Amino acid sequence: MEALAEKDLAHLLHPATNLAMHRKTGPLVIERGEGIYVWDTHGKRYIEGLAGLWCVAIGYGEEALVEAATTQMRKLAYGQLFASRSHEPGILLAEKLESWVPPSKRHTGPWKFLFGNSGSDANDTQVKLVRYYNNVTGRPNKKKIISRLNGYHGVTLASASLTGLPPFHAHFDLPIPGVMHTGCPHAFRHAHPGESDEAFATRLADELEALIQKEGPDTIAAMIAEPIMGAGGLIVPPEGYFPKIQAVLDRHDILLIDDEVICGFGRLGTRMGSEAMDMRPDTVSIAKALSSAYLPISAVAVPDWMHEAMLEPSNQVGAFAHGFTYSGHPVAAAVALRNLELFEERDLVGHAARVGVPFQARLQGLMGKPFVGNVRGKGLLGGLELVADPGAGKRFDPSAKAAIRLAALAQEEGLIVRALAGDTIAICPPLVITEAQVHELFDALERAIARFADEQVKAA
Ligand code: PMP
Repeated sequence: MEALAEKDLAHLLHPATNLAMHRKTGPLVIERGEGIYVWDTHGKRYIEGLAGLWCVAIGYGEEALVEAATTQMRKLAYGQLFASRSHEPGILLAEKLESWVPPSKRHTGPWKFLFGNSGSDANDTQVKLVRYYNNVTGRPNKKKIISRLNGYHGVTLASASLTGLPPFHAHFDLPIPGVMHTGCPHAFRHAHPGESDEAFATRLADELEALIQKEGPDTIAAMIAEPIMGAGGLIVPPEGYFPKIQAVLDRHDILLIDDEVICGFGRLGTRMGSEAMDMRPDTVSIAKALSSAYLPISAVAVPDWMHEAMLEPSNQVGAFAHGFTYSGHPVAAAVALRNLELFEERDLVGHAARVGVPFQARLQGLMGKPFVGNVRGKGLLGGLELVADPGAGKRFDPSAKAAIRLAALAQEEGLIVRALAGDTIAICPPLVITEAQVHELFDALERAIARFADEQVKAA
């Protein structure tokens, strides 16, 4: 084994990794990247079909971002936003974001952007803001938060609690009290036979209403949702889902927190995923593509009315006592600002919408391939779900690790994709992918599917 891989096994504890499997297989060590491609330490080239972890939106090797980072590092390597201190990149990024995040449902003035370092801490902040807001407005009992089964919102104590996937709870004594999960809008798995999209969406809204009634509407503060679920299985809700869900929430004065960590910044061919999925959120979490992952940065978009309530002198409990050393780190903010300028100069959102057409067509074209049970997506986001028997929708035995095997074969074919829970493969390339590269990506995936099918037939 090469020296780096040996050192990896000796010293690194890998996050979100099957540790026993890792000990056997060792790491894939990636060395460099350019555009949509990365190269490993053996010089083998791959299409980065997941844009890293759904984040390298602008692609690898963007010199303008290197320049933005080094320029800012030379000028002011660090600056804080605590105690009224401020700095230009933080201010200009917050201003820029106004034009990227559509107005909230009850828009009374510009958003206020509260910066963090990751999607997890943004969602953690959301939980704390909801508590803070309801405390200062005299509703101390309205605190619970509803999330969804299969939702993914991060891994800190609060955001892992919001995440609706059992491995993120088991052994961690989660979820924390006051977090509950409602049904997952995955028609392929959960719609009744013959049930229309509309009927399925109505049933999910009724289920949400029943949960709210059971818990007591006055105890529930907010619901959190991704426009399209990413890590929990690439799940596209049925047509009409969000309007029906929001009608229930509005009836009970429950806020909608929009987790745009994957869908934000052009992924679905719109600025925010909410625009593509008919969501009118009250607050928004953003991260990942905000800086195209060149440096870690996240933000919570706080509506003006929430901020105003936090200002009320009668409610003032001293400072707003939340924030991180690196909230709005000037180098990360300068990179994010330049990244969004490049998005605008190159019309990357429009590009994603245009290239999303052949991307979705090739994805649809996978239906009918052996063991492909369902495909779904929007813009430059796609998922394909494997089934043991497509006719009957019969799942593979989990021990077969079918999606993990397909992802491994794709990797041999020079394509990095991600195996998710529920035997789904996620595809989420950098937004700069060209139409020709879309075909290159799906050609590699089809070769992997053919090899997967051969193996299955031989094993039967
Ligand atoms: N929300 C969503 C929708 C995500 O996909 C992720 C990360 N995949 C997170 C939150 C957490 O972000 P981070 O890993 O940066 O903490």
